[in-house]
Amino acid sequence: MTDVDHIIIGSGINALVAAALLSRKGDSVLVVEREDRIGGCMMTEEVTLPGFHHDVMAATFVLFLTGPAYGALGEDLAKHGLEFCHSPHPTAALRPNGQAL
Ligand SMILES: Cc1cc2nc3c(=O)[nH]c(=O)nc-3n(C[C@H](O)[C@H](O)[C@H](O)COP(=O)(O)OP(=O)(O)OC[C@H]3O[C@@H](n4cnc5c(N)ncnc54)[C@H](O)[C@@H]3O)c2cc1C
Repeated sequence: MTDVDHIIIGSGINALVAAALLSRKGDSVLVVEREDRIGGCMMTEEVTLPGFHHDVMAATFVLFLTGPAYGALGEDLAKHGLEFCHSPHPTAALRPNGQAL
């Protein structure tokens, strides 16, 4: 641990953005996460049917997409496979009476 320039506690989106920006300028970064997976509130799980993946916490990344971090990192993230799927109906809610908004 003493060999790294920065130690970041937690691996949520803010930590990952900070780590990416720091490492891109040449610093070494250690990200430490207490859970068994990284990402904090970015969590995708197969909670309904096999093969259907849902973002069970953060699901829309408008602030990230329109913010300076995505401007700085977007191209690199795409090279590593990040792709956003935009839909004409970005969010929906199922009402108790069965109607959907
Ligand atoms: C249900 C829900 C829905 C949301 N929906 C959206 C959305 O659609 N769009 C959106 O933009 N935002 C959404 N948010 C908000 C968004 O998830 C948060 O703003 C964002 O996750 C904050 O990121 P963060 O990096 O600050 O922290 P977090 O994502 O909370 O990550 C913190 C990480 O640090 C780890 N950690 C904490 N303490 C320690 C420690 N001592 N040692 C090691 N690891 C530690 C935690 O385990 C966690 O992995 C939602 C939040 C919730 C709860």
